[in-house]
Amino acid sequence: ESRAVIEAWTGPARTADGTPVKVLANVADGASAAKAAEGPVEGSGLFRTELCFLNRKDEPSVEEQADLYGAVLTAFGTDRYVVIRTLDAGSDKPVAFATLEGEENPALGVRGLRLSFGNPGLLERQLDAIALAAKNTGTQPWVMAPMVATVDEARTFAEQVRDRGLKAGVMVEVPSTALLAHRFLEEVDFLSIGTNDLTQYTMAADRMASDLAHLTDPWQPAVLALVAITAEAGKQAGKPVGVCGEAAADPLLATALVGMGITSLSMAVAAVKPVGAQLGQVSMDTCEHAAEAALAARDPAAARAAVREALSR
Ligand code: PEP
Ligand code: MG
Repeated sequence: ESRAVIEAWTGPARTADGTPVKVLANVADGASAAKAAEGPVEGSGLFRTELCFLNRKDEPSVEEQADLYGAVLTAFGTDRYVVIRTLDAGSDKPVAFATLEGEENPALGVRGLRLSFGNPGLLERQLDAIALAAKNTGTQPWVMAPMVATVDEARTFAEQVRDRGLKAGVMVEVPSTALLAHRFLEEVDFLSIGTNDLTQYTMAADRMASDLAHLTDPWQPAVLALVAITAEAGKQAGKPVGVCGEAAADPLLATALVGMGITSLSMAVAAVKPVGAQLGQVSMDTCEHAAEAALAARDPAAARAAVREALSR
């Protein structure tokens, strides 16, 4: 879209024919949330809590955590919404008090929700802190876990979140979860696709390896196919399925994601206006054609070209 159209876009996001899509910001702490909240976003679809802890030697107390989370909840207030992700330490995000030393293959190791298995109380204290922050701020955050691979993990997590009166979801970052999204949706209130890791694990290509950028591309047909399976499961279940990886920040891809049935897109703040403006230019029908075209393409370049073509018709 033209610079003028992008700058003039004020939200909330709708397709040209009025289908609402939540356009949300990814945030790391109270300061980034306050900055994001100045813009035309409906909230945050990804609060990466581990970023509050990267430079901490010890686990913050429940009260201290509640203050950190409360700052984000306060920034968005009671009329917008926030999805808090529980600790996603490990792999590319080492947290001193949680991650294991010397893992041979940390991306496939004890990271995300897996850290809570051998670390009794870590997740429970974080959930207590989130519940306390919710109470202190009078808000109702949604809570999701990263790196979930089995339905059992989803069930156990959701029970703990619901025990505290909050909505529970899991991230779809592992192909096992995308493939069986319909079963996961029997256990949780929502799903959120992390396309950065979903791409890494689908293509077996390290997301940090610049030599593999052609593989770590969310336009890869296999990644799009898994996103489509997940979105379709959400439609069938009548439950929200969002995307919070970098794919959501690509205005072209965003149209195809919405066409697949994705209900929210959470992204770096800089992408909010370009994505919102783009969605405002296309009907839901066109988004569905864009999705079909992307899914039928043989490689990322063909998928991009096919979506461009679908949007120009
Ligand atoms: C993702 O994997 O797409 C995601 C949103 O999580 P992170 O980038 O923090 O791993
Ligand atoms: Mg991830």
